[in-house]
Amino acid sequence: MKAIDLLVRENIKKLVSYKSARSESAMDEGVFLDANENPYQELGRYPDPFQRKLKETISSVKGISDQNIFLGNGSDEIIDLLIRIFCVPGQDKIMTFSPTYGMYKVYADINNVETIEVKLGSNFQLDLSAIKEQLSDERIRVAFLCSPNNPTGNLIELETIFQLLKNFEGIVVMDEAYIDFSKAPSWMKQINRYPNLVVLQTLSKAWGLAGVRIGMAFTNSAIIRYLNKVKPPYNLSVPNQKEAIQALENETWFSQNLNSILEERDVLQKQLLKLNRVKQVFPSEANFLLVRFQNAIEVYQQLSNAGIVVRNRSSLIDNCLRISIGTPDENEKLINELKRIDNEKSIVFR
Ligand SMILES: *Cc1c(COP(=O)(O)O)cnc(C)c1O
Repeated sequence: MKAIDLLVRENIKKLVSYKSARSESAMDEGVFLDANENPYQELGRYPDPFQRKLKETISSVKGISDQNIFLGNGSDEIIDLLIRIFCVPGQDKIMTFSPTYGMYKVYADINNVETIEVKLGSNFQLDLSAIKEQLSDERIRVAFLCSPNNPTGNLIELETIFQLLKNFEGIVVMDEAYIDFSKAPSWMKQINRYPNLVVLQTLSKAWGLAGVRIGMAFTNSAIIRYLNKVKPPYNLSVPNQKEAIQALENETWFSQNLNSILEERDVLQKQLLKLNRVKQVFPSEANFLLVRFQNAIEVYQQLSNAGIVVRNRSSLIDNCLRISIGTPDENEKLINELKRIDNEKSIVFR
């Protein structure tokens, strides 16, 4: 594994980042006449650029040093920053393992960085023997791995991730947006062992704060330094930081909510399997189910006509829809509509 500095773009290494007025003085209280703020408004002040209080809270909830935490405006922002730090536009590449989350490629495209899409093998697992050449391709700077994977819902096997971390010369990003729904431990405990590892988590899924836009990166201080260098100075707003602290301090709500989603996932899975149009429900370690239907597009349209919106993934995985776990009421509406679709077909064929 190369030293991190060797992987970073030259212009980013040389970059003199913006020093906001507030990042130079660490004072919490005082007479602040340094940032051209409006003193008459409660929200008239710029937020803490380094989100120290929120990081302390995350540090205690996650059991990781605040020195190893970087926060973004959603993990999507961090994906973009990582590509910008490590990939020279028009020259370097990223690697993804498809079918997977679409934003890796979108941000690579925006940055004029090519995406090498490697297909996942059987059971949506990583087949490293198939990508020996890519592993030593110097131009591939970042590999994005998602576990539990979106939209397939499965975990990627430990051993293949260890192999990737050991044999790939670039940065390995482990996107753990759904890790709280899984029994598997987070990879964040491995960041000291693998200097090329960046673990992403988010408050958007199990923590229920998609509207608040907060993503977390756990990694070593060298990469954190570069992320801080390129981020917008005030990337997390004051209300967002406040909301996040409140939610993180309410772990009772978190675990109750998590348990209901997991229970509903089981219920929904059993009910789906009873339906004629359902061909397969893939095992899930996340808050959604990937379901194979007989003629998925037709099912998708009929659900949509009934005001039920699911995610059509048939272009990625044959005849599959991805269904988020809703409230018991929402899930019941879904099942009732699917039953109606089942019956309608049998009438047509009679
Ligand atoms: C939902 C999701 C995210 C979350 O992105 P945010 O910007 O934090 O809301 C990240 N990665 C994957 C794979 C996701 O499914």
